[in-house]
Parts: sequence; C-alpha cells; structure tokens
Amino acid sequence: MMEIKFIERKDLKEKPDMSTVKFGSQFTDYMLTASYDEANGWHDWRIEPYGPIQIAPTAVVLHYAQTVFEGLKAYSVDGEAVLFRPDQNFARLNRSLERMSMAKIDEVEALTALKELLKIEKDWIPTGEGQSLYIRPFVFGDDHTLGVHPSDTYKFMILLSPVGGLFSAGTMGTTKIYVEDKFVRAVRGGVGEAKTGGNYAASMKAQEVAEGLGYDQVLWLDGVEQKYLEEVGAMNIFFVKDGELYTPELNGSILPGVTRMSIIEFAKDAGYKVHEARIPLTDLEAGLKDGSVTEVFGAGTAAVVAPVGELNIHGNKYVVGDGNVGPVAQEIYTTLTGIQNGKVEDKFNWIVKVDE
Ligand SMILES: *Cc1c(COP(=O)(O)O)cnc(C)c1O
Repeated sequence: MMEIKFIERKDLKEKPDMSTVKFGSQFTDYMLTASYDEANGWHDWRIEPYGPIQIAPTAVVLHYAQTVFEGLKAYSVDGEAVLFRPDQNFARLNRSLERMSMAKIDEVEALTALKELLKIEKDWIPTGEGQSLYIRPFVFGDDHTLGVHPSDTYKFMILLSPVGGLFSAGTMGTTKIYVEDKFVRAVRGGVGEAKTGGNYAASMKAQEVAEGLGYDQVLWLDGVEQKYLEEVGAMNIFFVKDGELYTPELNGSILPGVTRMSIIEFAKDAGYKVHEARIPLTDLEAGLKDGSVTEVFGAGTAAVVAPVGELNIHGNKYVVGDGNVGPVAQEIYTTLTGIQNGKVEDKFNWIVKVDE
C-alpha cells in the first residue's frame, strides 16, 4: 500500500455553526492530494493543511476542462465514522476518468486514502439530525501546454465539507421544476454519464433562466429530440404512477447515480414494481393530468430525495399530487437516511466503516 505523508498544521480551525452553514462553504483542516505522471504513476500522497494550490496558467484543466469529480458523505454513528457505498463512487470516478481520457486511480488506494483522511478529521463529522460530512474527491489535468491533447500529469484531491440536512428535521419540502425545452444538458455520444465539470458549466444558463421564472431546478429532456425525460438538475428523476416507480433508463447521457441505484434496489426489495425505461414527457404529462402520477422526486447524494411539488411543462403548470411530500418519497428518504445513520438495519451491506 502507498505511503501517505502527513503535514501537520499548528492552528486548527473553529468548527462552524451547523444551524446556519451553507452547502459547500466550509472545509475541514486537512485535504488529501496525490500526483500522477507516467514514470511514477500515482505518487506523493499527502494529507496537508486545507488551502490554495499552485497550478500553471496553461494547466490543461483551465483551458480544456479535463476534470472529473465525485460526491459522497461520511456519517457519525455512535461516535464511529461510516461511509455509504464508497466503492460505487470510486468505480464511477474511474468510468468518468476513462471517458475523459484521464489517468485512472486505483480504487483501493483511493478508498484507503479517504479513510486515512477521515480518521484525522473525524471530529468534523457533524452529529445533528440530517447532518454529515460531504466528501469531494476530484481529479484534474495539470500539465502545462496549450496543445489540445490529454494531460500527461494529473492531481487527485479530496476535500471535506460539513453540511446540514437540506431539510430540517421532519419537514422535507417540495421543489418547483421547470421542464427545459430549449437548452440541453447532454447529447448522445457525449459526456453526460461522466461526472465532469463541463456538464455543469453547460447547465448553468438554463438554471439561471429557470430561477428567474421562479423555479428551483430544471428537468432536462434528451438532447436529440427533447421528448424523453433525463434528469432533474443534478439529480436523477423518479415518479410514481399507479403505485409503481418509473425512472429513465441509463442511456449514456444520464449520470448513473448511486442514490438512483440504491432506490431501485431498495424499492424492488420492498415489493414495488420498478420500471427503467425510455419515458416520453407526454406520458408524465398525461399521468399528471389524469391523476395517475401521484409523486415526482429527484434523487442524489446531497438531498437523498427531493420531492417535486409543481412542474411547468411548456407553460402548463401541474401540481403533483396535493403539492406536498408523498408517501413513497417519504418512505425512501426515511429508509436510506436511516441506513446511513444506523437507525435502520443495513440489510444490503451498503455501510463501510472507516476504522476497518
Ligand atoms: C451526482 C449526480 C447525480 C446523483 O448521483 P448520486 O451518486 O446519487 O449522488 C445525478 N445527476 C447528476 C447530473 C449528477 O451530477
């Protein structure tokens, strides 16, 4: 196993007030870094004080966006740090790296490095209801050349950020969604299934326009015909129709969420019929009109489940169900967060202890 150098800092930061902390605004005392070049592979692993880094102005990432990231969380259960399916995140990181022609990581080394960092930063995992330590692993090309070709050198880093629950205890809210019919997020054969920076840069304009119209997020349609459901903001989408669950099938332009996968596994086990299919927007709209669609929700690590209260489809506004959180979204939220917090039995073996 690789050696990780620990560069200690003298002054530790003060922990933030978790009741007011904004998502992704506070970082812990330390971060993990490693470097890659062809001769040495991944090397120079360090846990060092969190702070600015130096890169060349010509670094490939700044000009040609060779960058991928991950997002997962650590939870505190009876004073012990645990992770939710981290193997899935590092496997997806490698699939993203492959798609972007970047150097792959060793998934076992990456998880070992994360655990070492968490052992040092354990006190930063907040313990309040719905709170956790958000983990942001990322890789970028830092070779200094303006030639358009894959970088020869890379950096792998992990940052840790304490986050509150998106919803305060027991009061999961609903979001208002604008169905985007002008801009697209990803196209067939593109990089939509990679967690790569450019996808998010491309999505910001639509998000800005939707916010200007009073909506929280956009629902993306496919990039070719703009007829089929893809995702909602940076989350996967589900809906409940006649008591059965529907979600778009993974088609190359949809990000394969760990939350999506977990919901499907849990729901099937709980006896729900789950359909992964190519879903026309007109099917969803018809179901909202005749009342057979009773719930719509987004799914992702940050919110776990984000119920949709209202949808704007080509200017027509639909209230989903009675506009409040539905029973299926509530059941999924309670179960998944319960497994993460140690309150629900981990029958699927999703929890990984940091100290083992
Ligand atoms: C990260 C992400 C998701 C959700 O993935 P999780 O692994 O569940 O957090 C969905 N869509 C997009 C575009 C994403 O970036």
